Amino acid sequence: MGQLLERYTRQILFQHIGKERQKVLMNSSAVVIGCGALGTVSSSYLTRAGIGQIRIIDRDFIEESNLQRQILFDENDISENFPKAIAAQRKLQDINTKIKIEAIVTDINYSNIEELTEGADIIIDGTDNFETRFLINDFCVKNNISWIYGACIGSRGLVMNIIPHETPCLRCVFETMPQIGSFPTCDTAGIIGPIAGIVASLKVAEAIKILLGDYELINRALIEIDVWNTKFKQIDVSGLKEVNNCPTCKLHSYKFLEAVDGVMTTFLCGKNAVQVMSRNSGNIDLEHLEHRLRSVSDVSRNAFMLKFKVKDHEFTVFPDGRAIITGTADSSTAKNLYSKYLGM
Ligand SMILES: [Zn+2]
Repeated sequence: MGQLLERYTRQILFQHIGKERQKVLMNSSAVVIGCGALGTVSSSYLTRAGIGQIRIIDRDFIEESNLQRQILFDENDISENFPKAIAAQRKLQDINTKIKIEAIVTDINYSNIEELTEGADIIIDGTDNFETRFLINDFCVKNNISWIYGACIGSRGLVMNIIPHETPCLRCVFETMPQIGSFPTCDTAGIIGPIAGIVASLKVAEAIKILLGDYELINRALIEIDVWNTKFKQIDVSGLKEVNNCPTCKLHSYKFLEAVDGVMTTFLCGKNAVQVMSRNSGNIDLEHLEHRLRSVSDVSRNAFMLKFKVKDHEFTVFPDGRAIITGTADSSTAKNLYSKYLGM
């Protein structure tokens, strides 16, 4: 154990941690959902801090425009067509071989969130959409798991701890889901790297306090930061649970956890793309699919994904049955394209 602790000496020296509490961190488990700008910074600090088990879940692959702020990725990852979760896991495991890091390339949804977050002491939000955040919120409040919300856009960011039954939840604060297209995204408003770094760093500091059980020291406000105008604000949200009659934590209605229909589509903001996932499709044999599609289009494939293009639509197909289809923002068009080329 002594040797194992050596790498954490500076953290152990810090008066609020120490040797015994470092061991608590080494026996803790964190799940990072979404591995973009926020997820890469969060998972890097969690890895370096020695959180014993880290699971990274991300549905996407890496694009050149990600490199400006998604600090675990490089140009090689793009030429190798690595999904974000896989590229992150490889880098992180090189940083710390003494912890367990899992990469899961999939879209988290109501049907798999329980399985994907099994054993989590804390869940860290690295997503880019309210649909997934409200799903995480429903799941965590229902199952009494702490999670940390974080978001950033432009030079501004938000951070909030959600300790079920103790602090307001995300729906207490953002009562209904913003309509798609009504709020800015990284793809429309841009973003500078440092705000993601700050938001993600704050999340890890809060995560460490929560994992160590320092509940009296955790932040209970909604933190708002603007690095361009150098503003840091703590917004008191303590009364919102009562005021808003929150459907999640007061009425125990978990609508984001409930099943809708067999085919799930998600509009990917700013990309003019839709993700389609069929509950019936199960795992896809990419090699088999490549043979089948050769007559239709040029196909490229690696162990993690298959790509092909038909007219204005580029398809990226994953082994879990998911496909991202570009060139449309319409879910029924995307469903039709999916069924035409991949079957339902
Ligand atoms: Zn609530």
